Amino acid sequence: MLWCCSAEAWIPASVPHSPWLTPMRQRTEGRERRSFAAICDRLGIHDRLLVRNEALRAIGGSALTDENIAVPESQAIGHDIPVTYVPFRNAHFLSVAVSWAEVLGAKKIYIGAVEQDSSGYPDCRPAYYQAFNEVIKAGTKEGGIQIVTPLIAMRKAEIVRLGLELGAPFDLTWSCYSREDRVCGVCDSCVLRLRAFKEAGAADPISYVQTAVAG
Ligand SMILES: [Zn+2]
Repeated sequence: MLWCCSAEAWIPASVPHSPWLTPMRQRTEGRERRSFAAICDRLGIHDRLLVRNEALRAIGGSALTDENIAVPESQAIGHDIPVTYVPFRNAHFLSVAVSWAEVLGAKKIYIGAVEQDSSGYPDCRPAYYQAFNEVIKAGTKEGGIQIVTPLIAMRKAEIVRLGLELGAPFDLTWSCYSREDRVCGVCDSCVLRLRAFKEAGAADPISYVQTAVAG
């Protein structure tokens, strides 16, 4: 089993039984890396591997990897794919995860992709992961590694409720696309998170610059 967390240019990982892998978005990678380390510390994950993906920043084309493209405030969900989409990003994450799983002998790779009330990214759709699993079968030595997406059909409010039940370390997590000091509260990622906590009837334990979320 191997867990692949959200993010983009850094890929931490490891531990014999449940390695964790966290690729980070370039813009907030330093903050995300600190969150990853804090979460691993709390959960007792000792062995970590950090791999930097320079390709996504060199290619650019996204507000998350190109400093010349501003991170927009939240847009209507379910329409055009937003400029925060990083071209084919999850394939980079998954490729590293599959390589690593093959070396470790891990059979499952878990990733927290969400399709329903997310930003509409094409690499968060079930068909994408089904197709990726076919690539793994065809392209690895034994073909027995599988990507698992346990949250993909859940709404974010349901994920918050489940996380609260399980004692997930929400206080250590970072979702904001644009800031590293305090979360902005107005980017797509912040708005989706705030809405999920509101719908779940729970308080988000992290500190926001703004928290106005329309019902
Ligand atoms: Zn934000």
